[in-house]
Formats: sequence, C-alpha cells, structure tokens
Amino acid sequence: MRYQMRSFALASFIVLAAAAIFARDDKSPVSSSAIPPEWKGKMTDASQLPVETNSWGTLQWLCSEKLMPGAEQTVGIATIFAGKKNPLHYHPNCEEIVYILSGEGLQNCDGNAVHVKAGMTIRIPPKVKHNIVNTGTETLRSLITYSSGDRQVVFMDEQPPK
Ligand SMILES: [Zn+2]
Repeated sequence: MRYQMRSFALASFIVLAAAAIFARDDKSPVSSSAIPPEWKGKMTDASQLPVETNSWGTLQWLCSEKLMPGAEQTVGIATIFAGKKNPLHYHPNCEEIVYILSGEGLQNCDGNAVHVKAGMTIRIPPKVKHNIVNTGTETLRSLITYSSGDRQVVFMDEQPPK
C-alpha cells in the first residue's frame, strides 16, 4: 500500500513535470536554437549573439543593419561594471536613447552630469559627447537604441580603452 502511494506520487510528479515542460513550450514556440527561416534577418536571440567585453563593461548588439538588413535602428544591451565608466564618445550620425534597466550611475552629457538609476530614460542627440560612470555597487545594465541601423561612434581618446 505504501509502495503504491509512493508510485502514485512519483507518477503524478512525472505527469506534472511533463505538463510544465509542454506548457512552457506552448508559451515560447521559438526556442533559443530555432529562429524560423522566414524570420532570419528579422529576429535575433540574445543567447546566440556575441557579447563584446571591455575593461569597463560589455556591449551586446541585438538589432542593427548588419544583424537585420534594412534595419533603421540599432539596439543593444550595455553594462558598466561597478566603479567603471565607458570612454567619452559621440555618435555623428544618430541620436542615442538609454534606458537604465538596473543599477545607478552618473550620466555625462555635453559636460553636464546627472544621477541616473533603473527606470530612467536619457536621450543623447547626435554629436553630443557623453559617457556613463557606474557609481553604484552593482553592474549597471541599460538598453541602448540609436536612430540608425549603422551606429557610428567617435571616441575622444585616441585609443578607446579595451
Ligand atoms: Zn553613446
């Protein structure tokens, strides 16, 4: 009797686990390894895209002319490690919008600095020099978008720090 109860419990667990897996599949028909052929060039999966790592943080491009031919915007995820800052730079051909996902820091824009934290959005017009300093204790994460599929960048230092 006890054995039967245990078997029943085990069988129930397996059924529930299988149901959970199928339910999840129903909600996300596009698994990380399968972008349908007709969506190639119109869709990306961050889990399959490279992450550029610098001494100050990371950049991962999610959308650009290169990743999605014909794209008129560039979208990415930027991180700044605690206590670090990215090099001062500007974009000659596009404006940038930064949405802070997590963390906090000091946004420098055209010589002015403002404290930023999760939930804030900053618009940086073309040709305006800017960077961000992570003044917090955790990695600052932001969603960054540009009004061109071909984001160009000019660094103030001769050589951007790697
Ligand atoms: Zn920028």
